[in-house]
Amino acid sequence: MAFTCATGKHRRPSRVKRTTTNAMGVAALTTTGVIGTLSAPALAAGNPVEQTGLMQAVMLGHSVAEKIDAQAAAQKQAAEHKKAEEAARRRAAEKAAKERAAKERAAREAERRRLTAYVAPVYGSYVSTGYRTGGSLWSSGTHTGIDFHAATGTPVHAVGAGTVVEAGWAGAYGNQIVIRMNDGTYTQYGHLSSIGVSVGQRVTPGRQIALSGATGNVTGPHLHFEARTSPEYGSDINPVAYLRAHGVNV
Ligand SMILES: [Zn+2]
Repeated sequence: MAFTCATGKHRRPSRVKRTTTNAMGVAALTTTGVIGTLSAPALAAGNPVEQTGLMQAVMLGHSVAEKIDAQAAAQKQAAEHKKAEEAARRRAAEKAAKERAAKERAAREAERRRLTAYVAPVYGSYVSTGYRTGGSLWSSGTHTGIDFHAATGTPVHAVGAGTVVEAGWAGAYGNQIVIRMNDGTYTQYGHLSSIGVSVGQRVTPGRQIALSGATGNVTGPHLHFEARTSPEYGSDINPVAYLRAHGVNV
């Protein structure tokens, strides 16, 4: 007995095992004073503990390496995922920008078409008296415009985009409006029952500017319409040809 192993199960101890054994022995001695009976089981138990410990260390080492590998793989995957996401985001942004640009182009084109379009001054009407027809009613002896059939109070529209240069009473024309069109020509609207625009006002094609009537030198209500090269009486051009040249079906 004493400080050696009494059971014969003793193997060549490692430094760790010896330390463990001694520690156990000392611990046993200090608590019970009996060494042999306690040190042997302690030693027997010490081996598996030691082996397990080593294995744990190996396994720990192995799992750390695996963990590092897994971490690296995960980081690589995350980086690739991020890259793919950024590429997708970039593609989406480019697509959105292209769509936006196309939309803006279409809107500009629609606006351009809207502003350059021409319409008839009275919708759903017809020419009741032609251009340059003779008659005692006209001071020049000839009709300087065309008459559109229209009951008093029928909406009158600017035939195209322009700026109002005259709006008010004009003798034989009654209430009239003259618009300087964006292309430099002029259009005139006569015998109006009411005027809805003022001088200097810009109008878009089809903008309602007045209501038709029978003011001035007339035998009945209608819209008198002229196309001119200047705002003045006498500079009239063929209004039917003028409207047709701008795509209006009259
Ligand atoms: Zn007329």
